[in-house]
Amino acid sequence: MQCEICGAEIAGVPQKIVIDGSSLEVCKSCARFGKPEDKWTPVPKKLIPAERAFRVARPPRPRDHFKDLVEIIPDYGRVVREAREDLGLTPEKLGSQIAEKASLIRKIERHEIVPEDSIRKKLERELRIKLTDEAEREERWKPGSGSKGLTLGDIANIKRR
Ligand SMILES: [Zn+2]
Repeated sequence: MQCEICGAEIAGVPQKIVIDGSSLEVCKSCARFGKPEDKWTPVPKKLIPAERAFRVARPPRPRDHFKDLVEIIPDYGRVVREAREDLGLTPEKLGSQIAEKASLIRKIERHEIVPEDSIRKKLERELRIKLTDEAEREERWKPGSGSKGLTLGDIANIKRR
C-alpha cells in the first residue's frame, strides 16, 4: 500500500483523509494535508442527532432574546402605585414630572391601560422601578425599598444589555 500523496510505502494502517472532496489513503505524515475522512464524508445517520444536539447546546443569546421579548410584569399597576406612594408623589405630581397626564397614571395603576414603552421607561426612571420581567428578578434581590433602589446608572446598564 502506497501513500496517495507522497508515494511512500505505508507501514500499517493507511490514514483515510479527504482533500477537496476526494478521499485518499495516505501515510501518517501526509494525513495533515487533509481532513480525517470520517468527519467529512456524507454524515452517517447516527451522527445526525449528535449534530442537532450540538446545535442546541450552543450558547444561546439570552440578551437578544430578552430584548425582543421584553414583557411588562403582570402587576405593573401595583408596582407603579406603590413606588409612587413610597416617594410621596400624587398622580398629578408624578404626571408633571414625566410630562404625562395624571389620568394616564391612574389608568396604568388600575391596569386599565398598559403603558407603552416610552411611558414605561419614564415611569421606571422616575420611580426607580423596573416593569419588565427581567428587572423583577433584580427587584427581589434588593433589601427593602427606598434609598437602595436602582440608580440611573444601573438602569442605563440594564437597558444597554
Ligand atoms: Zn505520504
